[in-house]
Amino acid sequence: MAPRYITRMLAWLAMLVALACAGPAFADEDLPGAIQPTCHAFSPIDTTYAELAADPAAWTCNSIHWKDPLPAGWLRFDASEWRGQGVPVMLVTRVTKFDRLSIFAVQADGTTQALGLSPDEVTPRAGRSVFSARLPPIDADTVALVVRVERPWNAAVLSDARLSSDPAAGDWPIVKLVMFGILAGMLFAPLIFDLALYAVLRQRFVLWHAALVVAMMGYVISFTGLIVLFADLNVVTLAKINGFSLALMAALAGLFLADFLEEQALSPFTRNALRVASLIVLLVPGIITLHPPFLDYRSHQLYSLGFLPALAVYIFAMIEALRRRSRSVKFILVAWSPILVLGAERILRGLGFYGAPSLIDELLYVALVVEVVISAMGVADRMMSFREQRDSARTRAQVLETLAEHDPLTGLLNRRAIEPRFRELCEEGFGTYALLDLDHFKAINDRYGHAVGDEVLRAVARGLSPNEDTLVMRLGGEEFLILLRGPNARARAEQRRQMLPRHIAQEVPGLDRLVTASMGLVEGPPAAMAASSFKDLYSRADKLLYEAKQAGRNRTIGEKLTLFNTHGKERRATERRKQDRRSSPAARPARSERA
Ligand code: GH3
Ligand code: MG
Ligand code: MG
Repeated sequence: MAPRYITRMLAWLAMLVALACAGPAFADEDLPGAIQPTCHAFSPIDTTYAELAADPAAWTCNSIHWKDPLPAGWLRFDASEWRGQGVPVMLVTRVTKFDRLSIFAVQADGTTQALGLSPDEVTPRAGRSVFSARLPPIDADTVALVVRVERPWNAAVLSDARLSSDPAAGDWPIVKLVMFGILAGMLFAPLIFDLALYAVLRQRFVLWHAALVVAMMGYVISFTGLIVLFADLNVVTLAKINGFSLALMAALAGLFLADFLEEQALSPFTRNALRVASLIVLLVPGIITLHPPFLDYRSHQLYSLGFLPALAVYIFAMIEALRRRSRSVKFILVAWSPILVLGAERILRGLGFYGAPSLIDELLYVALVVEVVISAMGVADRMMSFREQRDSARTRAQVLETLAEHDPLTGLLNRRAIEPRFRELCEEGFGTYALLDLDHFKAINDRYGHAVGDEVLRAVARGLSPNEDTLVMRLGGEEFLILLRGPNARARAEQRRQMLPRHIAQEVPGLDRLVTASMGLVEGPPAAMAASSFKDLYSRADKLLYEAKQAGRNRTIGEKLTLFNTHGKERRATERRKQDRRSSPAARPARSERA
């Protein structure tokens, strides 16, 4: 961890976002030969030019103090500025909301020629979010042009205002516009990528990323003025789109971050703070920029301030994620670094160390595309780890399930593997339920030790040879359950019981006697079995097993279930019980039918 350089990097990020909030700066290189205002002033709304002209103290003649609560902003351009060069043909300035624009040509004799324009009567230009306004007639007697803007929402409409003698001023060359068009189009790739990813692994942050990409497209298209080529928008609408796309971008970045960073990367508090801060961006700058009637031009000062809580929280969250060793946050930092470098460059340039062509400013849009592409890589990386997590969780679950359903000593299934699926098994034809218990097993343990006892149990498991139609479970101790289906099920169970003594003797040599087993067996049509519960059948079989033990061990006592309907109700009945012929060497009476 190197928290120092990271903190520094985040500080740059902070400054950058502050700059981005201010919008792309208006560069004079875009307007060759442009004329700056000599002085500016602010006044109440009903002050006339004559009144203001009579009060020289009202004018500020250096380029400071552009923000003022007074509703009318004034600019004065002196004719001496354009004498000897081309006569200005239009005013070019930043897009913002205002109520009315008036331009006066002041003549040498003190008279004025006025031109009043509503926001619908000015022309948004295809380039860097500016608009132009035509001018009243200017002749050799014109000594100044005075511009009055009523209730400007953004002071930049005053500070960035220039007169130009070029009728195409403010438009970017077509090559540049095409370049930005391609840049905006490149954003479609990550968008399609996001939507495809979301279709496969439904993670919410992928949708946030997609929405962020759309907001960035909006930002690029509106701030580069590309939108003007496609839609006939008035400046107020354009100002709304500009401001809202930026607020939306900032809000979506926070919502994306909140869902994107790993579980352990953020505390729940920080995660919620991210969401709240995003919401504030959407509500404060987002609403201000839509110019609702309950707010006036002065509220625009809060537009930039509304980004600050988000800025602070995003930085805090990224530091926290880095401290908590988040992998994803590194993608975000790398994604942001071109924007950081450009932001730093712009700050240095702003300090006046050197000049740079305005193309440098426009690299910001390239940096945005880079941001989107790298953060999309982060999204892909995160998705991969989601998949890995999901797959390994699945494997783990399978292993656990296998462990939980098998008896570790014999490897046979256990009760848990069968009981929940018992009904299903009956319906699949398993209609014979045989409970088998070794005879005098305790004596084996007592005589040869527990390890040999275990050997015997393993030999039993192998001897009962489970297969597709013969499920064998160890229910506990030396008690086994055999579930059978198919032809001669009862005979197959009995045959397994009878061959156990020899099988055990072969596998565990050295025992001084044969280990026999007793069995309680219930069989019936699968429907009758399915109608009984596992527990029911177990207690029946256990009773029969007990009878077999009582009757001298090494034998099977069976019972048949039948199913018949009485008043539509299913009932089981014991048809008959019988004691099987014993086939052990110590065979005694043949078979005995029981009541
Ligand atoms: P019966 O013929 O009446 O069934 O007599 P038995 O001795 O087989 O029955 P009892 O229930 O008295 O004893 C069962 C013995 O099984 C007791 C216990 O030590 C042994 N046993 C239970 N589980 C294991 C095991 O996992 N390994 C070994 N080696 N012995 C076990
Ligand atoms: Mg026993
Ligand atoms: Mg027992």
